[in-house]
Amino acid sequence: MIGAVDIGGTKIAAGVVDENGRILSKAECATDVPRGFADAMRRTTEMLAQCAGQSRVSLHGIGIGCTGPVDPETGSLGNVNLLPGWEGGNPVEKLSTEFGVPAAMENDADAAGLAEAVWGAGRGKARLVYVTISTGIGASVILEGKVYRGAGGCHPEIGHHVVEPSGPLCSCGARGCWEALASGPSMVDWIRTNAPESCWSPDLSAKVICAQAREGEEWARRAVEREAYYLAVGLANLVSVFTPDAIVLGGGIMKSASLFLDRIHEVIRENCRLVPFERVEISLASLGPDVGLIGAAQVWHHHFAA
Ligand SMILES: [Zn+2]
Repeated sequence: MIGAVDIGGTKIAAGVVDENGRILSKAECATDVPRGFADAMRRTTEMLAQCAGQSRVSLHGIGIGCTGPVDPETGSLGNVNLLPGWEGGNPVEKLSTEFGVPAAMENDADAAGLAEAVWGAGRGKARLVYVTISTGIGASVILEGKVYRGAGGCHPEIGHHVVEPSGPLCSCGARGCWEALASGPSMVDWIRTNAPESCWSPDLSAKVICAQAREGEEWARRAVEREAYYLAVGLANLVSVFTPDAIVLGGGIMKSASLFLDRIHEVIRENCRLVPFERVEISLASLGPDVGLIGAAQVWHHHFAA
């Protein structure tokens, strides 16, 4: 039984996950970043202990997924955008000491990618790219069951590869990143910049836009068309660069996948003629909204199991 911890910018989830990737118990709390790292670890410890007690198990190890950048070798947090003031904190050291068991951590996209590779839609695929599209775009490359790492063990930032050099400024400082053009908030930004004010509702979100597009609302339809195109251009780039056995798509935006998939296949056919694109399976993530927790558990297996 593995204790799983998923640390995001808005919430921290903790739980107990069995050897088949099933969640036995879980709890969550607000991240509450300003209260600081130590306080968050205290709350995480309480949640883990409570979950273990509820499931009547003792933990063999603890796996952690955390919004990045994080250092999977040392277990310490880098300068994480969403967790200001937490840099240098080490959840691996902290939780491992607290529970007296080995712990390991990965970037949350790598954690989710590992979960889909072992227990989800990517099972049996030797070369897998996992992409999650929601408030940002995260991705993970998994080769023969191992997370691909860059220089110094770094996590490559596929969400920040440039798809439109003259595109909007991204939070990372570059222009026209995939994330700046195809994340959920970019759909909302596009409507606010281009559509007449009568089309904006205060609760405008990617989810609302997708629902409006289904009802045939013209501006929403155009926003979806644009989203599908940029999503597709980025995915076609991944097909050209990696030609993996599969690309697994997850994240909130993919709840509306039927609005985007035809266009994705069309652009891949147009842009990827020099590689056998038809061998790249495009599939939807299968582990659902708890993929972060399930992935955190898989991080432990990835580090410590045979
Ligand atoms: Zn960027």
